[in-house]
Amino acid sequence: MKKVKTRFPPSPTGTLHIGGARTALFNWLYARHMGGTFVFRLEDTDRVRSKEELVQSIVDALNWLGIDWDEGPFYQSQRLDVYAEYTQRLLDEGNAYYCTCSPEVLNEKREAARARGDNPLYDGTCREKDLGPSPGAVVRLRSPRTGATVFEDQVKGPIATPNSQLDDLVIARSDGSPTYHLAVVVDDITMGITHIIRGDDHVSNTPRQIILYRALGVEPPVFAHVPMVLGTDKKRLSKRHGATAVTDYQGLGILPEAMVNYLARLGWSHGDQEFFTLDDLVDKFSLENIGKSAGVFDPARLLDLNADHIRSTDTYRLANLVLPHLEKRGVVPGDNKRLIEAVETVQPRSKTLEEMAEGLLFYYKEFEGYEEKAAKKFLTPDGAKWMSLLARALEGVDVTDQYQVEAAFQKVMDETGQGFGKIAQPVRVALTGKSASPGMFELMRVLGNDLVRARLARAIAHIGD
Ligand code: GLU
Repeated sequence: MKKVKTRFPPSPTGTLHIGGARTALFNWLYARHMGGTFVFRLEDTDRVRSKEELVQSIVDALNWLGIDWDEGPFYQSQRLDVYAEYTQRLLDEGNAYYCTCSPEVLNEKREAARARGDNPLYDGTCREKDLGPSPGAVVRLRSPRTGATVFEDQVKGPIATPNSQLDDLVIARSDGSPTYHLAVVVDDITMGITHIIRGDDHVSNTPRQIILYRALGVEPPVFAHVPMVLGTDKKRLSKRHGATAVTDYQGLGILPEAMVNYLARLGWSHGDQEFFTLDDLVDKFSLENIGKSAGVFDPARLLDLNADHIRSTDTYRLANLVLPHLEKRGVVPGDNKRLIEAVETVQPRSKTLEEMAEGLLFYYKEFEGYEEKAAKKFLTPDGAKWMSLLARALEGVDVTDQYQVEAAFQKVMDETGQGFGKIAQPVRVALTGKSASPGMFELMRVLGNDLVRARLARAIAHIGD
């Protein structure tokens, strides 16, 4: 069997969005699973809408996701001579012809066809005229008029299109530039692509492209058309659904492995397994398990999956990943060991790196005020009394030593007859500003002696006021 070669060919007219990232991932996973080759190509023949900074943003997004390529990036704009050569070959062999029908006339005919309820196809006016090149002439593919074009889609099964529904496609514009169909087919042929995995918005393009392959004497590759990604309202995913650019999720503090995991599950499955590492995906990915129904992009599910990945990620790596999110908040933690210990305390309950950075702030910054509800409930005269007793019991105690801290709490519990929970509540608000926080002993350990004492004193003074 031929070695598998897949490709990802975005048009750099926008950033990489969820659907495009999924297409890239499926092609990459299939190549990696099969020990094949993955090609990255930029379909930038639309010189007006294609932008170099968008190329960079797509590259950045792929890098972030960990999708690497073996060949490319190739730029279609640098391959115009190749397309011209293939166009000439099609002309020379009688498989293409010049057409001088004006856009106005074509438009009129299309309108008239629509008015009759017909498919607005090219009527073949120039097909047998044997015209030569002339200013304003386009080149059209001579497509078969009878029979059907059939292919076996790896997701959708056999698809047959009567050739009477396919007209003679323009392959070169009057300025000589190639159309999408020509460029994509010539690229896929010359780059030796064996499998094309793409969104099913391209299904209707496929028979036309197959006709082009045949005209060029090449066996078409295998096609797998993946159903579109929908929003939770079952409408096609778009800006209306909020963030759809992959890098938006990077900014929100989604881990790349969680994003990859989520994208893979958007239209592909392996039993009822939800959590996958990248290696897992490479190992298990197959075209057979791409679903026939559309994947629904649900940001809430992505957050839950991200929380799972955060929990199973090594703390050292998380500490590195959360750094930019802390810096954004004006925090530059100098002490790596302390940061890792701090991260460990918030790791079990952070859904994103942004949330994690928020949860770490109290270790690094004096919070401005106490959470209102928590203060009202717990920073009471009783609370002040218990905290004063605790402050005294902690004199000479090293708060990073859990046994000593436990003994100090026990002392206050004995003196007051209160349970641990009762006494811990005001202490928690005093130390973190909030009523929900990491466990008492771990947060004291990371805060350290000075901050624990200072914040207890601050809360007691606050209540006194
Ligand atoms: N540039 C096309 C797109 O972005 C690629 C289509 C294809 O995969 O053939 O949709």
